[in-house]
Amino acid sequence: MACPVDEFDLIARHFDWPARHPEVSLAVGDDAALLDPPPGTRLAVSTDMLIAGRHFPLDTAPEAIAHRALAVNLSDLAAMGASPLGFTLSLGLPQTDADWLARFASQLRTGAERWGCDLIGGDTVGSPVLTLSVTVIGSLPAGKALTRGGARAGDRLAVTGHIGDAALGLALALGEESLPVLSPSAAAYLRERLDYPEPRLATGRALLPHASAALDCSDGLLQDIGHLLASSDLAAEIDIDAIPVSPAAAEWLEARPADWTRLVTGGDDYELIVALPPEVEIDPVWGLTVIGRLVDGPTGEIRDRQARTLPQRRGYTHFPASPSVDKGEDVNG
Ligand SMILES: [Mg+2]
Repeated sequence: MACPVDEFDLIARHFDWPARHPEVSLAVGDDAALLDPPPGTRLAVSTDMLIAGRHFPLDTAPEAIAHRALAVNLSDLAAMGASPLGFTLSLGLPQTDADWLARFASQLRTGAERWGCDLIGGDTVGSPVLTLSVTVIGSLPAGKALTRGGARAGDRLAVTGHIGDAALGLALALGEESLPVLSPSAAAYLRERLDYPEPRLATGRALLPHASAALDCSDGLLQDIGHLLASSDLAAEIDIDAIPVSPAAAEWLEARPADWTRLVTGGDDYELIVALPPEVEIDPVWGLTVIGRLVDGPTGEIRDRQARTLPQRRGYTHFPASPSVDKGEDVNG
């Protein structure tokens, strides 16, 4: 039910809970938050903005929006090997719906506690479109970080988890025509993976001393590998058959084998893509699958094992306003 916005009321009711990190000396409620990172640490800062109808379908549940807003930002910290400290949330709300806000804030708190990231501040404004901006702050040992630029020829390229579930989940969410008929459990799994991405924080932290480069997979596997190659001035050879897919995605591919291109160019997986020097022994707890290796060659080029160049079609990160809206506009645009 819509009611007038009272910002102070709203913050007090939904967004004020105690900070847990000793580094967070002052969180929500003053003019600014105060952080006191201990000597020997550095801060990593990343921000991401989400607009309803563009970055998630308009009918997305408030729980999924809250999860996504925090998870996609934390995924960037994971990709740097950083540990979360806190985040700010700026909300542009078309109306103040008490039930929506309660559900949103409850899920946000669940995520914040689970991932160990304190809410340290934010802002709320009225807005014609639901808009969220999250800025996360993480910590790293001084002088350390996983960047996109440190990889060398000969390093193995590996990914966490499964690739492509979110792209398939999106096709389902948008109700695309003539999709393969999946088992209900496979369809539910793919939707869940779209709505509830998991930031690979533990793996990012564990890889900090081992990986030579890393980034998270948000725009699409091949395009994101291209970003790493551009920063590291390298090319890559990928074994397409080695790319890990979930049982649900395998079910899809069995019906529509040509859709493997969706899996490697669709976005929103939020898995990590890492480069590992040859001497690094891969620990199974990292959950990595080696999918290829980095080579000297034309910077940014990705080839398969048959030496065919793979197209890095721009990943699909923007959602049409609703399934009924013209989908041609910004798909892969
Ligand atoms: Mg990223």
